[in-house]
Amino acid sequence: MGDNKRLGFIGLGLMGNGMARLLIKAGYVLTVFDLDPDKMNSFKALGARLASSPKEVGEKSDVVLSSLPDSKAVRDVYQGPAGVLQGSAANAILIDFSTVDPETSRDNDKAAAGKRAKYLDAPVSGGPKEAETGKLVIVVGGDRGAFEEGKPILDILGSTLHYAGPSGSGNIVKLVNNMMSMGNVLIAAEAIVLGVKAGMDSQTLFNILRTSGGRSHHLEKRFPNALVRNFEPGFTIDLAKKDLTLAIEMAKNFSVPVLSAHLSQQLYTVSSALGDGKKDCVSIINLFESWAGVKFQEAKK
Ligand code: NAD
Repeated sequence: MGDNKRLGFIGLGLMGNGMARLLIKAGYVLTVFDLDPDKMNSFKALGARLASSPKEVGEKSDVVLSSLPDSKAVRDVYQGPAGVLQGSAANAILIDFSTVDPETSRDNDKAAAGKRAKYLDAPVSGGPKEAETGKLVIVVGGDRGAFEEGKPILDILGSTLHYAGPSGSGNIVKLVNNMMSMGNVLIAAEAIVLGVKAGMDSQTLFNILRTSGGRSHHLEKRFPNALVRNFEPGFTIDLAKKDLTLAIEMAKNFSVPVLSAHLSQQLYTVSSALGDGKKDCVSIINLFESWAGVKFQEAKK
């Protein structure tokens, strides 16, 4: 893919913001759209062109990229009356980074094929920090040729790229990964609170766990923040709830029991209902702390 490709980016939130900035830094001409005018305006100063609809982004871009909150937004942005597919030319490549159900990806892929465009589902692993620094893991489903063609752009955004298989495969892998990730955070929170209740100093407990068999990527990434009572997102409780709900729906489609995913989804739902929805998912620890009457916290010096 030549450097003279015109790119479009839709959805300039926690993830999209960093990704779109990297593409501008790499020298691409970028046309952007977001429902939030403040987010759009912050890109004007960076030299991006502002569009008034996803359709206009489609008209002005050879490759459209998007990072959107949920399945409904992903369908609307591509297939809606002012959607990307109303504007994009044949041979356009459309790459969606959102975490959605595989059916939404396949449906958008079919609609894109009807316009002779290529659609890739390309959900990402990693948070806003990785998005800003080009360190995402990107898992791609869809046409292999389109993946190869889009690789120079994906290489700017991700440090690890995987081609997973046909349309929807990226999101199958992503939902499976997030079932595991959110389960890891949950069980670590429950176990750590028990350790503190039983008499362990929080920092000592964490230092030992991070070198022991129970450790996980999320233990090492998120629990140091909990220790200093920093619950800034990252990946929110509400996103955890959303992805677990999608994973459960996928399991239902195949009549596969997913018992721990149900429990996990319910506990993140409780946490959200109690007001922690916009906080980082590690704030699930607040639930266990309130039941045990202790806090996972650095000792005051
Ligand atoms: P966000 O809510 O911060 O950003 C979404 C952006 O999309 C917002 O700016 C919003 O205004 C915009 N938007 C919503 N509907 C729109 C529409 N119809 N048209 C145009 N713009 C629209 O969300 P986020 O945290 O950046 O997550 C985006 C996606 O990435 C989600 O699918 C999420 O599951 C996934 N994800 C997030 C993380 C993370 O750590 N935050 C990690 C991996 C994957």
